[in-house]
Amino acid sequence: MSYRTVIGLEIHVQLMTKTKAFCPCRADVFELPANTAVCPVCTGQPGALPVVNSSMVEYAAKIALALNCNVHEYSRFDRKNYFYPDLPKGYQITQYFYPIATSGYMDIDVDEQVKRIRIRKLHIEEDAGKLIHEGDSITQAHYSLVDMNRCGVPLVEIVTEPDLSSPKEARLFVEKLRTILRYLQVSTGDMEKGALRCDANISVVDEINNIQSNRVEVKNMNSFRFIEKALEYEEQRIIDALKNGQNVEKETRGWDLSNRITISMRGKEEESDYRYFPEPDIPPVILSEEKLDQIKSTLVELPDQKVERFVELYKIPRYDATVLAMDKEIADFYEACVKKIGKPKEVSNLIMTEMLREMKQLETEQIKITPEHIYELFSLMDKGEISIKMAKDIFPQIFRTGKMPSQVLEEKGIRQISDEKLIEEIVRKAMIQNPKAVEQYRSGKTNIIGYFVGQVMKETKGSANPQLVNDVVKRLLEGSS
Ligand SMILES: [Zn+2]
Repeated sequence: MSYRTVIGLEIHVQLMTKTKAFCPCRADVFELPANTAVCPVCTGQPGALPVVNSSMVEYAAKIALALNCNVHEYSRFDRKNYFYPDLPKGYQITQYFYPIATSGYMDIDVDEQVKRIRIRKLHIEEDAGKLIHEGDSITQAHYSLVDMNRCGVPLVEIVTEPDLSSPKEARLFVEKLRTILRYLQVSTGDMEKGALRCDANISVVDEINNIQSNRVEVKNMNSFRFIEKALEYEEQRIIDALKNGQNVEKETRGWDLSNRITISMRGKEEESDYRYFPEPDIPPVILSEEKLDQIKSTLVELPDQKVERFVELYKIPRYDATVLAMDKEIADFYEACVKKIGKPKEVSNLIMTEMLREMKQLETEQIKITPEHIYELFSLMDKGEISIKMAKDIFPQIFRTGKMPSQVLEEKGIRQISDEKLIEEIVRKAMIQNPKAVEQYRSGKTNIIGYFVGQVMKETKGSANPQLVNDVVKRLLEGSS
């Protein structure tokens, strides 16, 4: 391994405030008809003045606190100047010289190891509009349409230090960040709808020859999977260039979904190209200690804290706790189930395997059943009416239809066989058919018991009560007919 990959991320988070960053237009514009949520401020009309949305500042401070940042009492807005058809003002309002927060960190779990990723800064800015190109390609379109609904939608930009050393770590970081954003209820974190956007800077160090490639910026990675795929592609492209002694251009590249490659978009701009200067229309943001304390007091339990508590309180493995805490709704569901049922590990097993698999297959993030369903399922198992295998078998139907387990059993006509006579009969038959196995058992090879249990399960299609089967087999083999 003579190549080391260095990745830093710049992540834009769309905030779920009611109104835009500096005007009273509504901020949830994703599905609105074009240009219906606009006003003189967000379309940059002469003389229109911006006013800071205080919820936006509060949301940004919440994220900063959750990411262990220093939140500054004094921050300020600046103008970033550039021309683009979706930016009618000719500049974007952002925080460049005095961002609201700096120097934080977030821990990620990489192969069961905790890795700390430092956060360089976190600042507030406004979004630009959207261009809709006629046809499906920018280069072939004859004209483009401008939708200004998104102009002025509040964003938080999070910039990490280059602490990530693989495409997988980059994906894990963004996944965990989305979890935190959802816990805080400050963003939908929906990548497909652009509420969470990730750009990455990647370079590779050739450790034998001590050469570091130029940094390449990769954009347009609009899902967790594409973050990993695009960066894997780019990592390999840079390593190949280093191997062949070629120069790696300092540039911005985009992920081309249909061809699964990155393509060059433009040379990378330098920060000085933007001619930043303080925004003269907005006074500095002052976040007093009292205000910050008040925001702190509204913070919910965050994923890392929840993992610790689950491990401590329910004595489940850290791995289980981490999987459950990835989604607040699932974590809450788990806790509600355990409060009713007990059995923290058994409940965690069922949720982590059966329920999460169903959710993945149905491509849904919604839990369509209640803790009542799980409670009934466990009661049926406790009473010996169904086996764990049967519980697993009917789980998809319970989850998909929302029917209670007892109703599903009735409709399917399934009952666990707890009829001792019937089980005895099957065991006796098996003993007659295979006297050798009986002999083996009696001469001390007791693990042969599994063979007889298996025969009963085969005959009853897995619906026999496993505890009862075990007891009967043992009793008959030990000769006490
Ligand atoms: Zn507006």
